[in-house]
Amino acid sequence: MSSIAVPPAGGEKIGVAVLGATGAVGQRFIQLLEGHPWFAVRELVASDRSVGKAYAEAANWLVSPDIPPDVAGLPVKGLDARLESPVVVSSLPSDVAGNVESRLAKEGHRIFSNASNHRMGADVPLMVAEVNPDHAEALHTQRKRLGSEGFIITNGNCTTITLVLPLAPLHRAFGVEAVIVTSLQAASGAGYPGVPSLDLIDNVVPYIGGEEEKLQSETAKMLGGWQGGQFRPAPFPVSATCTRVPVRDGHTESVSVRLRAKASGDELIAAWREFRGRPQELNLPSAPKHAVIVRDEQDRPQPNRDRMAEHGMASVVGRLRPCPILDWKFVVLGHNTIRGAAGASILNAELALAEGWL
Ligand code: NAP
Repeated sequence: MSSIAVPPAGGEKIGVAVLGATGAVGQRFIQLLEGHPWFAVRELVASDRSVGKAYAEAANWLVSPDIPPDVAGLPVKGLDARLESPVVVSSLPSDVAGNVESRLAKEGHRIFSNASNHRMGADVPLMVAEVNPDHAEALHTQRKRLGSEGFIITNGNCTTITLVLPLAPLHRAFGVEAVIVTSLQAASGAGYPGVPSLDLIDNVVPYIGGEEEKLQSETAKMLGGWQGGQFRPAPFPVSATCTRVPVRDGHTESVSVRLRAKASGDELIAAWREFRGRPQELNLPSAPKHAVIVRDEQDRPQPNRDRMAEHGMASVVGRLRPCPILDWKFVVLGHNTIRGAAGASILNAELALAEGWL
């Protein structure tokens, strides 16, 4: 597969295959890619349960009133299908994603994945487009290893993306020295059908397998650098507690931070409000105008009211106040299947296309 450029207005769009197309994140991909100026969904992949069916028959569509008409009739393919689409977005479960994504990357596909398998890979960017686009340097090493023009760029876990967006400007301006975070994660974070309703209604589940470790290690990789041919994680500790709450969409996190350079609350708020990255500079189609939104009201952010800020692409921060143990504490909210998953991958794909990495 040769290099891929932004299609001219009115020209042929770049084909995208969605892996895990029937799931919670796969549905978001299809919804968010409808009418996209550069990309068009052409292929869908899911489990044996769905293979051979038309998408409308295979998917229990939940994210909007109707399945986009261009996608409803597409046949669902299996994991071993040969794919034609140069760009592949993956929302497969981690028990099957690793090998499939590696094979497709070797075949030359550009993979943008939400699965955890390759996130900590030695030459795999774990990328939030506003935060660490410089990690794309690792693609040279990865492409050499794969012997192909293909590659894998991963998204962080949904909770990590929500956290890293407000941490990045603080780390740049003041230096983060320590983070304590407790998450209240929505039901859709566990996929569909996810946590049984009788385990979740009227309840809080104080454990999500593997989630705390991911939040700790992925934050360090994203806020670290790519130097001397390897990733150097940010040196500060993150202590995480992850819980599941009966909210449909939107992960809330209570965060305390210690900063190297002492800063006032107004300085933190200014760092958030002024935060811009490459997606905003390049005016990418899915870029939020502001990746971090600050709410002044004392009872915000709330999932129900704030998860769709910037079309679900922003982390919404509020309740900034002094922390008697570390320096500052605040609450942050992000939409887990949009900014925390499908929307973040699409933004990474747009950035890759605009920067010429494809
Ligand atoms: P989900 O709702 O359970 O969907 C899983 C998808 O994968 C479905 O399309 C399913 O197809 C397909 N699938 C399952 N087993 C398969 C197999 N053996 N072969 C081929 N396809 C198979 O899960 P999800 O929440 O969308 O999560 C997908 C991935 O994204 C996971 O790796 C998850 O950790 C990650 N992620 C999720 C979120 C979130 O908020 N949900 C956020 C960030 C990252 P069938 O319908 O045919 O079974």
